[in-house]
Amino acid sequence: MKRWNGWGDDENALDYTLSGAGRNFLESLIGNSTPLQDASLEQVMASVPASRLPPNILYSLGAEDRLRHARGQSLPDWLALRSGEFGVFPDAVAFPESSDQVQSLLQHAAAHQIDVIPYGGGTSVVGHINPEIIGRPVLTIDMTRMDKLINLDKQSQIATFGAGTVGPQVESQLAVEGYTLGHYPQSWELSTIGGWVASRSSGQQSMRYGRIEQMFAGGRIETLKGQLDIPTFPASSAGPDLREFFLGTEGRMGIITEVKVRVTPLPEQESFHVLFFPNWEAGLAAVREIVQNKMQLSMMRLSNRIETITQLKLAGGARIIALLEKFLALRGAGDDKVMFTFGVTGSRGQCKSALSLTRKISKCHGGVGAGPVLGKKWEHSRFRTPYLRHGLWESGYAVDTMETAIDWARVPEAVDGIQADITNALQDQGEAVHAFTHLSHLYGQGSSIYTTYVFRCGKTYEETYNRWKKLKAAGAEAIIRFGGTISHQHGVGKDHARYLPIEKGDLGIAAIQGLIEVFDPHQQMNPGKLLP
Ligand SMILES: Cc1cc2nc3c(=O)[nH]c(=O)nc-3n(C[C@H](O)[C@H](O)[C@H](O)COP(=O)(O)OP(=O)(O)OC[C@H]3O[C@@H](n4cnc5c(N)ncnc54)[C@H](O)[C@@H]3O)c2cc1C
Repeated sequence: MKRWNGWGDDENALDYTLSGAGRNFLESLIGNSTPLQDASLEQVMASVPASRLPPNILYSLGAEDRLRHARGQSLPDWLALRSGEFGVFPDAVAFPESSDQVQSLLQHAAAHQIDVIPYGGGTSVVGHINPEIIGRPVLTIDMTRMDKLINLDKQSQIATFGAGTVGPQVESQLAVEGYTLGHYPQSWELSTIGGWVASRSSGQQSMRYGRIEQMFAGGRIETLKGQLDIPTFPASSAGPDLREFFLGTEGRMGIITEVKVRVTPLPEQESFHVLFFPNWEAGLAAVREIVQNKMQLSMMRLSNRIETITQLKLAGGARIIALLEKFLALRGAGDDKVMFTFGVTGSRGQCKSALSLTRKISKCHGGVGAGPVLGKKWEHSRFRTPYLRHGLWESGYAVDTMETAIDWARVPEAVDGIQADITNALQDQGEAVHAFTHLSHLYGQGSSIYTTYVFRCGKTYEETYNRWKKLKAAGAEAIIRFGGTISHQHGVGKDHARYLPIEKGDLGIAAIQGLIEVFDPHQQMNPGKLLP
């Protein structure tokens, strides 16, 4: 079972403690810290209030079910889970096993004025699945029992999945047939295919496989107004695309029960590589040239100087890293160096040519190869990093991220500006923040920008939450100032809702609102999310 107050499964959750070197590094930057006291599961269970809904065979009123579906994985969620101060819980949780059962639940909700929260893996980092504090009784609908590969059309390369299928189940059910979806968000272990569609997610290898919008070919949606089937077409010019109505709607219009996705045969070969550029400017010029030349890489990640330093410090094996740094410095990648991680995936021929062309372009920008170890390390730890939040927490540190996407012309100033504003956001309290940035989804037009920040917990949960609020506002306001989107991959939820009108405009927001009302005239579906 999923951990109730952290990342991973109870049975095989990774123990990712902060190394001594990692702790010393953080202490030298932002000072040492004292961990806050965690609440126990029993304490939180005792605080779950009586449900406002009567018992019914359709759903569970159990305190533990309600508690386990009350919060996602945002930093405010984490603070609620750790302090035990949830404030609000769903009144009931249902676990449907078919589209018909989902439709029955929606009809029940319509008849009894119950609000509904669709729930996939609960990995939202922006407050998507949290019940509103004031409002009607809330029924959370957990989709994870709809977890099967329903059909695989090998000729058309279309797979149909139950919307609650989590990443590893998607890939294992396809792999036995020789196929892959290739959608690997860092939350892959716990997030679901329906959640990916509903929140417009992006996987680490989006350069080869596309974002979820490119994979999502059609499917079935249950709404308060009935069932909608979106057929699959290779392409169509028959008016607006119904898929776009549901992509990124965050449970506001209905519940996706079946997802049809475009899959590909398992690749013949895949490998990940790391090289270093002498400085950020050289790295930027190289990755832009690589992506604009439409090189067939499956992933790219360019870490800025501070992220490069942080990665190398946290990598462990201090002696080997020192030798590597000496080697790099001799070849021109010294103190200002930046790390470039990339992947090649496909046939042997494709991988060979992508690898050699990437190395060639990189060399023209001063790129220096670092041997196979760091690439393998990235592959090994690609889904492990979320566990580090536990290690940091146990040392008294909180960590969160802020992300956007911006056209190339503004990328350099935005990277520096967003990171600087977050770094300085707690200056008035005399608190240092360690922030670092990478580009990880690169396009011909521009790039995503992903900033991670670590800060010391306050003396209380409230103080820690207030620190986070200032950091979040500083990051979001900087994104807006530089003309970025409020989210490239995490979505809007509760935490970004107030910034959405700036991006969409009044008419745009009215159009989204109007569309929601077609399917949900009484605002019962996940109210309070997406729109301010
Ligand atoms: C450690 C970590 C790493 C992450 N890395 C990435 C990343 O690399 N890329 C990325 O894109 N995101 C990432 N995320 C964010 C998150 O995993 C994604 O937003 C993911 O798509 C959410 O999927 P889920 O199944 O957990 O959905 P949930 O969190 O359960 O729900 C998200 C939203 O979708 C709605 N929803 C869920 N299922 C359905 C359904 N069947 N029908 C209708 N609405 C539904 C919910 O109501 C909610 O509004 C990360 C999160 C964490 C905690």
